[in-house]
Amino acid sequence: MKCSRCGKASVITLRQGELCRDCFTRYFEKKVTGTVRKYKLFSKKDTLCFAMSGGKDSMAVACVLSRIAARQRQKMFAIGIDEGVKGYRDRQLEDMKAFCGKLSMPYHIFTFQDEYGMTNEELYGLAVKKGVDISQCTLCGILRRRIMNREARRLGASKMVVGHNLDDEAQTALMNLTKGSVELMARLGPASGPSGNKGFIQRIKPLYFCTNEETALFTKLRGIKVLYSPCPHRKASFRQYAEGIIEKMEKDYPGTKTALVQNMLRLIPMLRKEFSGGSVLECAECGEPSRNRICKACETLQKIGIRPKAKAKAKATAKD
Ligand code: SF4
Ligand code: ZN
Repeated sequence: MKCSRCGKASVITLRQGELCRDCFTRYFEKKVTGTVRKYKLFSKKDTLCFAMSGGKDSMAVACVLSRIAARQRQKMFAIGIDEGVKGYRDRQLEDMKAFCGKLSMPYHIFTFQDEYGMTNEELYGLAVKKGVDISQCTLCGILRRRIMNREARRLGASKMVVGHNLDDEAQTALMNLTKGSVELMARLGPASGPSGNKGFIQRIKPLYFCTNEETALFTKLRGIKVLYSPCPHRKASFRQYAEGIIEKMEKDYPGTKTALVQNMLRLIPMLRKEFSGGSVLECAECGEPSRNRICKACETLQKIGIRPKAKAKAKATAKD
């Protein structure tokens, strides 16, 4: 197969046609920067915090945007969270550290062990024992986001760059719809979460229109070392289930994923109008932004019977 733009050997088949190595990387980078421009995701004045798992998505977005941000002399740094998934997150965070070193990007790593006194696996074990109705991934996500938001804010970030891609967003839309959390859909989109709240660092998603396949290929072609195998706990998640359904539909009805996300984007302004009420409070326990008197993280920890240690210190930090 030949590239439909320049005639060289193709590396990927997209709905628009075949693309070779060079045309694809240009196409991918343009798509990412185009999303940043179209949705005004950040300006030169912003301090960017890259929320890095060390997986392909966070590395790809950092690869594209850090070069632009460096040209603009923009302040930026990365944060990684180690939830304690052995053989997975520890390996990813090693890749992240090496990659940040190459980009001359300062980074900070925080651990569940320091923050909560145990790993996510141990916390989940306790939750099961106490009969708390929560999945391992939900627990992991709630507790990770709290550290991420607090530390990004403490380190001076005004925007948090996350690696969510088109597949993630399609899955989230389906999960929110089927779980009845239509209110949560109002907070989605390329820039998500409440803006204008000092305590909350707005999350931006420059990979919003990039698929999993495109992002994986980009990291391979750019020679970025990443672990492609998923977290061992992912198989049990509802997200995994939603992914299976969407992949099947995409195979039978190509374009399903994009249509799902595009249609959700059309719905978001209406949903935001409908659910604009409800101010963001400060959690009475930890002071983090919360829709309720007590934030989800504190509520969950209380149910499990854990009191977090006060403000964990970064386990590893590197400044450029
Ligand atoms: Fe945590 Fe689930 Fe992600 Fe594993 S797959 S790191 S358990 S959220
Ligand atoms: Zn709290």
